[in-house]
Amino acid sequence: MPLTELIIDGFKSFAEKTTIKFDTGITGIVGPNGSGKSNITEAIRWVMGETSAKSLRGSNMKDVIFAGSEFRKSASYAQVSLIFDNQQHDLNFEANRVIVTRRILRSGDSEYLINKRNVRQRDIRDLFMDSGVSQNSLAIISQGRVDQILNSRPENRRGLFEEAAGILSFKKQKEQANLQ
Ligand code: ATP
Ligand code: MG
Repeated sequence: MPLTELIIDGFKSFAEKTTIKFDTGITGIVGPNGSGKSNITEAIRWVMGETSAKSLRGSNMKDVIFAGSEFRKSASYAQVSLIFDNQQHDLNFEANRVIVTRRILRSGDSEYLINKRNVRQRDIRDLFMDSGVSQNSLAIISQGRVDQILNSRPENRRGLFEEAAGILSFKKQKEQANLQ
């Protein structure tokens, strides 16, 4: 399920709308300290449904909005889109090209879109479930996360294996069925 494009607009240090295109194979992002490399991976986690402001190094989710600098006024919203090539239908969605978008305004209002249609956060979670790239999966390993995984409780570590094995969606379906 190739990620082909990332569009960041008003998110953290990305004051200006920035498009990053990913070719096939490995992409490396290099730059000096503080230039925004981690902000790129945080933008990806955020659009995939990250709910913890703390794990995005902020105290409130609104902190992801570009705060302004000496030369540029602050942004009124932050928006990030991920564009996937879904021709193999690895994502739980019928379209061949899937655009996932999240937007947050200064009022704190947040919305999610799939192919420009408003959806619930749950729909985003369902979209990525069992694709191996959900925001808690090992697809994204931030600084310090390796230690955290090695030191985590066995049941939490098991969750990562379950996700990798693609059985998480069946577990969730079972939980839902038991609730009904
Ligand atoms: P390192 O090599 O040290 O890991 P990095 O390239 O990963 O650095 P980031 O941590 O992604 O850098 O970027 C940090 C920069 O982002 C800081 O300069 C910080 O001021 C800026 N930043 C974070 N949030 C915002 C925001 N809301 N508005 C403007 N700038 C922000
Ligand atoms: Mg960093």
